Amino acid sequence: MAEAVKTEEKVVVKKFRKPTSKKKVCAFCVAGEKTIDYKDLAKIKKYVTEKGKIIPRRQTGVCSYHQRELCTAIKRARNMALLPYVGD
Ligand SMILES: [Zn+2]
Repeated sequence: MAEAVKTEEKVVVKKFRKPTSKKKVCAFCVAGEKTIDYKDLAKIKKYVTEKGKIIPRRQTGVCSYHQRELCTAIKRARNMALLPYVGD
């Protein structure tokens, strides 16, 4: 009985896994920033997981140009020991 409910739930979740929000706009484009400073941790930290990974573009809605900028900024911040290479 319990198993049947479980599988049913799984199907339902799979069925309604459509994106709820329409289109995300790049936050950096909106702010009108061309470059991303590696010292600006308050901004950068939003695009890094707890484990220190860079969050993919499809999840954050950042445009490809700013994702590249963000990537270098994060890597610089890691090199300067502002961000961890591996989080806890
Ligand atoms: Zn952008």
